[in-house]
Amino acid sequence: MTALTGNGTSQALNDQLASLGLAERLALVAELGGRAVFTTSLGIEDQVITAAIGTERLAIDVVTLETGRLFKETVDLIDETESQYGMTITRYVPVQDDIDAYAAKYGLNGFYESVEARHACCSVRKLKPLARALEGASFWITGLRRGQSGNRADTPFAEFDAERNLIKINPLADWDIGRIKAYVADHAVPVNPMHARGYPSIGCEPCTRAIKPGEPERAGRWWWENDDKRECGLHVPEAALPSLESSAL
Ligand code: SF4
Repeated sequence: MTALTGNGTSQALNDQLASLGLAERLALVAELGGRAVFTTSLGIEDQVITAAIGTERLAIDVVTLETGRLFKETVDLIDETESQYGMTITRYVPVQDDIDAYAAKYGLNGFYESVEARHACCSVRKLKPLARALEGASFWITGLRRGQSGNRADTPFAEFDAERNLIKINPLADWDIGRIKAYVADHAVPVNPMHARGYPSIGCEPCTRAIKPGEPERAGRWWWENDDKRECGLHVPEAALPSLESSAL
């Protein structure tokens, strides 16, 4: 797959994907060869991608990062989605020794105390499991959309991820939330009931709150941090994360 994993290839793929519908975008990636992995957080846009993969029976591995701190509604939705589409969503969990080491250093909920501590928790519960989930992958499919936050406003359809040496595919980059909701309604896609209770973006339970009318979609994530570019590190280079190097366990 070496020939596929370069900036030139990802740019060409980006241009090709732009003119296609969702199912065609996913089918094109599945047919390129090499392992394609879709990481779902069970959010509403991820459910749309899962529905397309499941309905079309595409050769794409669907995985989720089961952090151990998810809402019960999210965990239940994993089972419901598997049942509806007759598919397996592979759970990647953190290593217990890493969690123990984190708790000894910061406290189990130490992520409220500093950005460093928060990134260290995300490293243990998300980044390290993600690295295992993406082992051997040529393509990483995500539900990133340009409308989710200012930080994601330039999301392309395909981009080379040099850190992970693969091509990241964002097949919903140009979809707005209205289009997502219409797809869900038209295709009877199961979604997290918390979306209807003011949670457009749902992560770990202690790090997610409902948003107020007019707030950005991701305003309820790590709301105590005073940084409008806050992310968990899945979609930004590790080098860009504050203090992660010194806190990674
Ligand atoms: S979102 Fe919160 S609980 Fe989940 S891994 Fe990150 S800091 Fe830890």
